[in-house]
Amino acid sequence: MKALHTKNKTQKSPKSQTEKPDLLQSTHAIIREALQKLGYSEQVFELLKEPLRTLTVRIPVKMDDGSVKVFTGFRAQHNDAVGPTKGGVRFHPQVSEDEVKALSIWMSLKCGIANLPYGGGKGGIVCDPQTMSFGELERLSRGYVRAISQIVGPTKDIPAPDVYTNSQIMAWMMDEYSNIREFDSPGFITGKPLVLGGSHGRETATAQGVTICIKEAVKKKGISLKNARIVIQGFGNAGSFLAKMLYDEGAKIVGISDVLGGIYDPGGLDIPFLLDRRDSFGMISNLFEETITNSELLELDCDILVPAAISNQITAENAYQIKAAVVVEAANGPTTLEATKILAGREVLLVPDILASAGGVTVSYFEWVQNNQGYYWTPEEVRDKLEKIMVSSFESIYQVAQTQQVDMRLAAYIVGIQKAAQASQLRGWV
Ligand code: NAD
Repeated sequence: MKALHTKNKTQKSPKSQTEKPDLLQSTHAIIREALQKLGYSEQVFELLKEPLRTLTVRIPVKMDDGSVKVFTGFRAQHNDAVGPTKGGVRFHPQVSEDEVKALSIWMSLKCGIANLPYGGGKGGIVCDPQTMSFGELERLSRGYVRAISQIVGPTKDIPAPDVYTNSQIMAWMMDEYSNIREFDSPGFITGKPLVLGGSHGRETATAQGVTICIKEAVKKKGISLKNARIVIQGFGNAGSFLAKMLYDEGAKIVGISDVLGGIYDPGGLDIPFLLDRRDSFGMISNLFEETITNSELLELDCDILVPAAISNQITAENAYQIKAAVVVEAANGPTTLEATKILAGREVLLVPDILASAGGVTVSYFEWVQNNQGYYWTPEEVRDKLEKIMVSSFESIYQVAQTQQVDMRLAAYIVGIQKAAQASQLRGWV
């Protein structure tokens, strides 16, 4: 392993979500602006500013020590005018109802951008999976499905993995749903293991979509991807596959982080080594004595910055210190609206989350189509279909940004909200 440069040994704990800007409120502001640009009335905004449905559930789970712990879970369904709702389930101590609501709206936008026949949904359970055993996680996953089973299903609302959930958790959830319905229901959930009806390319889909966006963005900026210096925050599902894909393209990954901190090497990190050593929660910084903080990581000298961990990382406080020429948001909501404007003013090309991370839901859609048909595609078919969708989505949003003289985030909202608004009107809801 190459020598790692030390900046600071002190680790700052991540700020709690309550200290940060409200995701739902900032989503409202930009949806209103996008709908106004499209010429829709205030009534359409009133309909689309909140999910149609949000269910809060309490899930009792027998813990390994014999005690019973009751967990809180949520499922939000933003708008089903276009089709069934779709979106991941996250397991995280800081999941909140408002966060799940905002994320369900963003899923509608992603589905609109990728032109998928879905509205947005999202789920979450307030828990700390890193402190739970395999058995406890299985009982929690099954309990969640029992609690939300009335409002989900292959033609109603289709869950998927998100932060700290994976294909094993999807397998338990699919099995529980199939038991409740008394028939095999692979189309109930996506992100499953291949042997249970998963799709080739699902695990790497988000990272592949982000890679495609990076390639399109660097073309616009006249940067060569080969030897470009890249910093990635987060080394979980999205961040780790992304690091490998970009490393294979010849880019230099100079900084990587996890929840505890980051590592930095201006000469480029040894990504195969880190992939080999990372644990299933995307932890690598604990392998090193000398680390930098996540705040320092974001401000490193680089060409491309990819936040691939959590929300509200680039704010008005640090946006002027970002050195990257291109910021591509693999995570949901890593940049505040204020910071978006600061970056746009500094001519940083920001590829927003609802475009950059749409690869995951796109291949989830492919998985659902394959489940419904009972006919499975090759990895090449999946990759080619994803590439076509991502390239054309990027281009259409870039063109809206150019022609309407708006930043890429507002352009993505304009493209993304259109289908839900139009479908709701055509159904006579507004
Ligand atoms: P993951 O749970 O696999 O990994 C999360 C990574 O972020 C880990 O390395 C973790 O240590 C790190 N992390 C957690 N809290 C952090 C903090 N406070 N500061 C810095 N790092 C922190 O999650 P993932 O699936 O890779 O998702 C990451 C982001 O990408 C999320 O915002 C998620 O919503 C988004 N996303 C993921 C997918 C997907 O298919 N996995 C799809 C779309 C969007």
